[in-house]
Amino acid sequence: MIEFLPYDGVPVAVLGLGRSGTAAARALGRSGASVWAWDDEENARSRADRAGIPLVDLARCDWRLPRALLLSPGVPHDHPHPHPVVELARAESCEIICDVELLGRARPEASFVGITGTNGKSTTTALIAHILSAAGHVLAVGGNLGTPALELAALERGAFYVLELSSFQLELISTIVFDVAVLLNVSADHLERHGGMDGYVAAKRRIFARQGDGAIAVVGVDDAHARSIYAELRAASLARVIPVSADGKTENGVFAADGLLFDATEGEARAVLDLARAPALPGRHNWQNAAAAWAAARALGVEADVIAGAIESFPGLPHRQERLAVIDGVTFVNDSKATNADAAAKALASYEIIYWIAGGQPKEGGLGPALTCLATVRHAFLIGEAADEFAEALSGRIGVTPSGDLETAVADAHRMAVAEGAAGAVVLLSPACASYDQFADFEDRGEAFRRAVSALEKGNDAQSPTKRAERAS
Ligand code: ADP
Repeated sequence: MIEFLPYDGVPVAVLGLGRSGTAAARALGRSGASVWAWDDEENARSRADRAGIPLVDLARCDWRLPRALLLSPGVPHDHPHPHPVVELARAESCEIICDVELLGRARPEASFVGITGTNGKSTTTALIAHILSAAGHVLAVGGNLGTPALELAALERGAFYVLELSSFQLELISTIVFDVAVLLNVSADHLERHGGMDGYVAAKRRIFARQGDGAIAVVGVDDAHARSIYAELRAASLARVIPVSADGKTENGVFAADGLLFDATEGEARAVLDLARAPALPGRHNWQNAAAAWAAARALGVEADVIAGAIESFPGLPHRQERLAVIDGVTFVNDSKATNADAAAKALASYEIIYWIAGGQPKEGGLGPALTCLATVRHAFLIGEAADEFAEALSGRIGVTPSGDLETAVADAHRMAVAEGAAGAVVLLSPACASYDQFADFEDRGEAFRRAVSALEKGNDAQSPTKRAERAS
């Protein structure tokens, strides 16, 4: 646990008391700081109060006193409008930072591997951690995924923090340097929080800031934004810059072609892994994740056969193209984490016959790239606030059913898939939307899907005891 933050005896403000803010307040308290914690939500404040975290109304305090303001990723600091507390802190030149920045300051002797991108961050973070751990390294994995940065173990020299980083966190780092920085891809997301695409790209670019000689920059080159960052780094960075691609040959990089992973980092391209041997990484988009993880691990000196074995044994993450069950020959796949159209498009390209459950709280750009991936989709079952907008966008392209809620959509999709009887049919929840209109978050939505599928499975068993639903392997 992190206990030595550089604030012994001085006030530090913490705004936002979700998981990461609460972890930060606790770590600051353990370090002897005088914690001034606040959240605009009363529920969050009472929870913190019960946990013994000192509350101070940050809209009404003396901003000459705090040494720093630690912001949670959910609190806007510039766009669409700075939070009023941010303006107060700025007026007194109070430093504004995030938890990952503090972790960097607390454990400078450890090594830092940072992973960002619009999609694939969690998968690649977990995969790199899985590989490093297979290679016998001591590490702690978390950040934007799972355990918040300041709840991670205190690591020594030679050990690795493997951190998933959001664009919000990257905007609030100022001194931490990533020994290995991975940028997978950049496509439109969270634009309202970054004042548009330029702001979003600039935030992602910050993962490479301050990297010097000996550092490693792994960059996806499959989209125009990431490619231009790659070109910039090649021209100006002191780091070793390694390109990765899921779209074929990439000089001096790691790339996937024809279902094989190639390593060309030492000159000639060598086939190093048959990606069909990695069942938890289906689809081309996952090839990009595998290529990035390979590049990072090889650059850190992990042996090729150890990396290959670890990619093959990677168990995958829940809510990311997670196979739940096969019922009446229909496979149910939970991709609740596909909260934008780009992620959903990748999932649509991963199966042959799809009964697609989509919708939720719509994002700017609507179905965007998913509209070009409908060849595999037999029918769409629409839920949530986006249902009307999506029905209009899909009209004339594929049939749609306005199912309304997730449970109804599961039943509707199952019924149609069974009636049409196509071998290899998949009912895919890949919403292309945020979840907040009907669920607490994407995990809550994925769990609701899991429950609906499990109820369907049980109902089937009860109706027909001889027909056992086959569990997905
Ligand atoms: P993130 O943490 O960036 O949201 P995840 O690894 O959790 O990414 O994956 C979220 C969803 O994004 C997956 O379910 C998949 O549909 C899609 N996805 C995963 N990797 C990629 C990638 N490299 N490029 C595009 N989409 C991806």
